[in-house]
Amino acid sequence: MSKSSSLDVISSLCKRRGFIFHSSEVYGGINGFWDYGPMGCEMKRNIKEDWWRFTVRNREDVAGLDATIIMHPAIWKASGHLDTFSDPMSTCRACKKLMRADQVWDILTDGEIGQSLTALLAEGADAARIAGWCKGKAKGLAPNLAAVLDADALTAAFEAVKADPSLAATVQALYTLLANAKGPQPAVTPCPYCGGELTEPRPFNLMFKTIVGPVEDPSNVAYLRPETAQAIFAQFQNVLATSRQQVPFGIAQMGKSFRNEVTPRNYTFRSREFEQMELEYFIRPDEAVALICGKVITLADSPDLSTPQDAWGWEVWHKYWVEQRKAWIQACGLPADSFVEYWQKPEELAHYARACVDIQYSFPFGVQELEGIAARSDFDLSQHQKHSGKSMEVFDEPLKLAAAKLDDAARAAFVETVVADWTGRGKDADAARAFVAKLFEGKYVPHVIEPSAGVDRMMLALLCNAYEEQKLVDEKGKEDVRVVLHFSPRIAPVKVAVFPLVKNKPEVYNKAREVFEYLRRRYATFWDEGGAIGRRYRRQDEIGTPWCVTIDFQTLDDGTVTVRDRDTMRQERVTLEQLKAKLEEALIV
Ligand code: ATP
Repeated sequence: MSKSSSLDVISSLCKRRGFIFHSSEVYGGINGFWDYGPMGCEMKRNIKEDWWRFTVRNREDVAGLDATIIMHPAIWKASGHLDTFSDPMSTCRACKKLMRADQVWDILTDGEIGQSLTALLAEGADAARIAGWCKGKAKGLAPNLAAVLDADALTAAFEAVKADPSLAATVQALYTLLANAKGPQPAVTPCPYCGGELTEPRPFNLMFKTIVGPVEDPSNVAYLRPETAQAIFAQFQNVLATSRQQVPFGIAQMGKSFRNEVTPRNYTFRSREFEQMELEYFIRPDEAVALICGKVITLADSPDLSTPQDAWGWEVWHKYWVEQRKAWIQACGLPADSFVEYWQKPEELAHYARACVDIQYSFPFGVQELEGIAARSDFDLSQHQKHSGKSMEVFDEPLKLAAAKLDDAARAAFVETVVADWTGRGKDADAARAFVAKLFEGKYVPHVIEPSAGVDRMMLALLCNAYEEQKLVDEKGKEDVRVVLHFSPRIAPVKVAVFPLVKNKPEVYNKAREVFEYLRRRYATFWDEGGAIGRRYRRQDEIGTPWCVTIDFQTLDDGTVTVRDRDTMRQERVTLEQLKAKLEEALIV
């Protein structure tokens, strides 16, 4: 058995079997946009429904929201997206291609130039071979590279490698040398598509702009949301007032987001239109927890993360949500060893964030972010409070009662502790005092933990993980390859397929239709009456259908059907009652 998950193989299966198509394909497609076909949209719906059930319905402390894609532009000013939601972009002066400056080397390595240079290095890239490459293959691959265009630059590179072979130790080093051996100063970054010179990176805002109403005036500019989260903050007070929730509680939303990515790449991984599933889980500031509970449980206390506790501080809530998210990812079918937790280093964190974990999956193109779980302090709600002039504070009765029990000395000591802590973290002492004064009234702006996932990335990971090409040998010794998607039943686009053994015998056919009608009212069920049963099995294997049910003459006699298991390929005869029970057990969660 061989597991193959190259992106090309997967994308071609996805196209062939109706999972994913290039958007606007009949017009040549549009970069960064993807359509989900009959199988893809079922699968995507299953992922979203599973997330919603896990995050909202199965919990008492999370409420849902479905907000608009276009919102008041002031939201994006307050959130910081207008000023800072940008990627560094460079342009090639020669071929005019635009790209994210921080992805230049990834693009090079993934592309033909990178592959050709990798092969060259594998052969032992001495000066002569490098010269051969520049005069041969590189003319077609990297025509604008200095060492390809200019004999002097090639000679300089040649000399440099002779003097110090380590200059040609990696693809990046060698390519940079071939662009710069003769100057210019400062060194240029070569274009990963043609070898030309890239411009200095400049920030490019990723939000799509649009005009609201008929008048094309700057005052009517609005943006397609680049994330679903901000609506949750903007509607925080409305949801709080109508959901009978109290901190700690969460608000969840999923839906389309749009980012004008400079270089959409790796199939659906980085798209310009995609879907997110986001939760903002609001918690008490640690200082409020300390007043109410007399202590704050931190990770150093090695807490049991299975049941939330009042005394948990932000650190424990954050870790709790990392564990919850991992549990969901695994329940969807990604094995624990296929993804890792990446804890962002302090210097990588946004200035307001206290911690951020990326769950990274081993995609065929590398280990990359599947979703992120960030502890964002009270930054978002405070920003909206500041910009909208509307209070984002909550009133917390137990906090007020706890504060009322403190005598003056205890209050003063508490103020001093908070001031010391805040100033130790570079924050303002007066702000700390004002914050504590509010706490004593039972008021604060909640802090938030944000698990933020992408539907499309999850689907891509599930496809990559599920794909397998199995080499089989039949009874006659004939070799064959079976392509199968091992989806977990809850994610599989079709749960069960029903086949009449023959279609020209009305009794068998009608009985099969009866079984099909029963099942389709409960689960995504597929009817297939065409071709040999073996071929029908294979068609279902390719879309990951866990069970195929065949109705034959024996069904008419004793009411049993044949159920064939996708993974083991074993067939068993069961009664219809047993079949119903089996599906119910596997699919009703
Ligand atoms: P990246 O660093 O990969 O650009 P990000 O850190 O900007 O991602 P977030 O803003 O944290 O992403 O968005 C949360 C989630 O939304 C991501 O983990 C991912 O699953 C999804 N997502 C973000 N951008 C895209 C995109 N362009 N295409 C598909 N999914 C995306």
